[in-house]
Amino acid sequence: MAPTILIVEDEADLALMVRYNLEAEGFRVATAASGDEAAELMRESLPDLILLDWMLPGLSGIELCRRWRAKEETARIPIIMITARGEEEERVRGLATGADDYVVKPFSIPELQARIQALLRRSSPQLVTNVLKAGDLEIDRTSHRVRRAGREVHLGPTEYRLLEYLMRHPGRVYSREQLLDGVWGNDVYVDERTVDVHVGRLRKAINRRASEADPIRTVRGAGYAFDERFAAMN
Ligand code: CA
Repeated sequence: MAPTILIVEDEADLALMVRYNLEAEGFRVATAASGDEAAELMRESLPDLILLDWMLPGLSGIELCRRWRAKEETARIPIIMITARGEEEERVRGLATGADDYVVKPFSIPELQARIQALLRRSSPQLVTNVLKAGDLEIDRTSHRVRRAGREVHLGPTEYRLLEYLMRHPGRVYSREQLLDGVWGNDVYVDERTVDVHVGRLRKAINRRASEADPIRTVRGAGYAFDERFAAMN
């Protein structure tokens, strides 16, 4: 599954043009015209990267960036600021506030794409690498092969997507609803208990030996997470 990019931009034409081009590159894209809209979308699911316009109605881009950096669950989401031409000061302040990079309007789409790819490789290699590793688990995204401690693990397509999704952000807790959106897609109607069924199957497939730690953590009243302590083990 492709990384999700949230575009926060009130100029509808620009947002649409960027969205169209990023979708053509294979990204999943969400758009918000203000900080409030962005906050609403982010309550449902967190993006993998944010493109943030400086000039927005209501809270400015810089204020949003400051707030996201201060909150634990959004502190590490990579942010590219979109700034106006010639505003050197904006760029300096944007980077000082915690933005990872910036583009200057009018920017070219290939330049934006290159910056997004570079930032994802730098800040979230687990999103773009072909072989994703956490603890003794290894996923090959090209061949869809999964291995645990070197032995092959056979997963159904849904279990594969579920594992891949959870492994992208060890420690991040997902509600059942967020997992349904992220793994099944939001136009499919499935009961939330379906998530439990597939997590059960996934656990059964990857935890074959009693001595092995369970990489999936059940968070009571919240949902599931890939255990970050497991991810850090070797
Ligand atoms: Ca704007």
